[in-house]
Amino acid sequence: MSKRDYYVILEVSRTAGGDEIKQAYRALAMKYHPDRNPDNPAAEDSFKEASEAYAVLSDPDRRKQYDRFGHAAFETGGPGFEAGDFGAVSDILEGLFGEVFSGGRRKRRGGRDLTFDLEISFVEAALGVDKKIDVNRPAPCATCSGNGAKPGTPVHTCNVCQGRAQVKYQRGLFAAARPCHACRGTGKKIPTPCDTCKGTGSKLRSEPMNVKIPAGVQDGAVRTVRGAGEANPGGNGDLHINVKVTDHSLFQREGADILVSIPISFPQAVLGASIDVPTLDGKVLMKVPPGTQSGKIFRLRGKGIPVYGGYGKGDQLVTVVVEVPQEVSRRQRKLITELAQEIGDDTHPQQASFLKKLRGLFDA
Ligand SMILES: [Zn+2]
Ligand SMILES: [Zn+2]
Repeated sequence: MSKRDYYVILEVSRTAGGDEIKQAYRALAMKYHPDRNPDNPAAEDSFKEASEAYAVLSDPDRRKQYDRFGHAAFETGGPGFEAGDFGAVSDILEGLFGEVFSGGRRKRRGGRDLTFDLEISFVEAALGVDKKIDVNRPAPCATCSGNGAKPGTPVHTCNVCQGRAQVKYQRGLFAAARPCHACRGTGKKIPTPCDTCKGTGSKLRSEPMNVKIPAGVQDGAVRTVRGAGEANPGGNGDLHINVKVTDHSLFQREGADILVSIPISFPQAVLGASIDVPTLDGKVLMKVPPGTQSGKIFRLRGKGIPVYGGYGKGDQLVTVVVEVPQEVSRRQRKLITELAQEIGDDTHPQQASFLKKLRGLFDA
């Protein structure tokens, strides 16, 4: 397959300036970054293609080479060939994705990141909560001090990767690395493994931890505790806490607003009433004025959820639903029949207007 022109890939003209090229790459990198397109090989290809184009066009010397010789400049042995220079690209990616991306690469030498699924209730999410959790956290094995060898036995350097734990290989323009298979990415060869950790050098330890969940957190939010991942002398990994918020039997949530439906009776709707409404702060008395229609929404200001990462609180929106009796006694039936005869069109403005429209539809 022939390679596409770098200028075409970045969608810039051949005279584009450095800033323009940077901006074009930034937009493409945001769009195609693997973190944002998991399991999407097409996006990954586009991301690599754009990164390669940017690595060349952002460097004045390489760009000159490319303008003169085209892709031939960077083929193995070509005038501009230089293995493994990914500097400009990683700088911009660090700017774009911050520690998530760059940290992932840096942490190769240190401890891995861990994830923890934390389930909290609707009310805990709304008001904020301090949770005690037990994290199964790998830490260096105490028996062998983390080197994986039975105490008193030697640790050799892996002869396949020379202790680097990675094996480098050339991939197109860039040098890439994969973990060494011979030593499973440890860089070490251990003839007599430690009994306690079976040679892995690490041991799971259940560690209690306090987690502060701020008020207003949403279902699916991720809280990261720096340094609370796998313990490692080269730097601890991070702990990512996936927050799962369980449903509430009465409340629903829309951003910072709480939605709740309250059933009222037909007489309450007609005559008006004061009804108890549950809120996060407890019950409040809400006035339903006479003649309230089913489905009417009342707004209780400031009775919602604190705005996450912002200021103030949402409202509580109370929908009143007029409930119709499903069964009536003989006496109730008689009274309601009398009531029906008593009530004319003029007391039901909506029905009167509807009947008028209906007549217009068929009698025309
Ligand atoms: Zn051990
Ligand atoms: Zn190795």
